Amino acid sequence: MKPLIGVTSDVDRNGGTLVHSRYIRAIRRAGGVPFVLPIGMDGIGEICSRLDGLLLIGGDDVDPFLYGEEPHQKLGKVIPGRDEMEIALVKGMIDQDKPVLGICRGHQLLNVAFGGTIYQDIYAQLSGNLLQHLQVTDLRFATHSVDIVPDSKLAQIAGTLEMRVNSLHHQAVKEVKSPLVVTAVAKDGVIEALESTAHRFVVGVQWHPEALVGGQELVTLKLFDRFIEAATD
Ligand code: MN
Repeated sequence: MKPLIGVTSDVDRNGGTLVHSRYIRAIRRAGGVPFVLPIGMDGIGEICSRLDGLLLIGGDDVDPFLYGEEPHQKLGKVIPGRDEMEIALVKGMIDQDKPVLGICRGHQLLNVAFGGTIYQDIYAQLSGNLLQHLQVTDLRFATHSVDIVPDSKLAQIAGTLEMRVNSLHHQAVKEVKSPLVVTAVAKDGVIEALESTAHRFVVGVQWHPEALVGGQELVTLKLFDRFIEAATD
């Protein structure tokens, strides 16, 4: 049977459930069955026991209170209820060592769920010459490059230690707590990927692989394939 993959969601202007079709297509292409999880859904424990994998999609900022900070003036919109539900989903899945893939905000949320922290706005809080992480170019095209940590799961998937990714974020992972480790860094030092050393497949990427799938970008296709493979075990 094909694995059932929970897909988190955003809200549209009218409060309706919103998921970009690219996420759904990426899961289906890799052989998974996507199951969208609207914000505010209850029964998370039971849902996690049925799911074979969890995809944390992109979206707005994570509430800084969840990592012990007051809101910085450059903090973007926070959606009440979304973070709590997603953290409960992550905990429910990792307790059973089920695969979790976090994308962009999902990668940051994953870090917070493991006790880590976030830069609320890299341009206000990090010094030095930062790259353009809110790319103006269409998301289907990779812009900045990342260095991948050797011997990581990501390095294994990528088959290379340097690649170009797309980028659409003003926040970034700050402190990372064990068992999460950093697995990719941009040339300006911004953390671009994470994974757990204690779970079969818990991976976060700061970029948007689902937007690169259409371009048949090989690393991206392999990332989704490995995620779905892990959910099939
Ligand atoms: Mn970036």
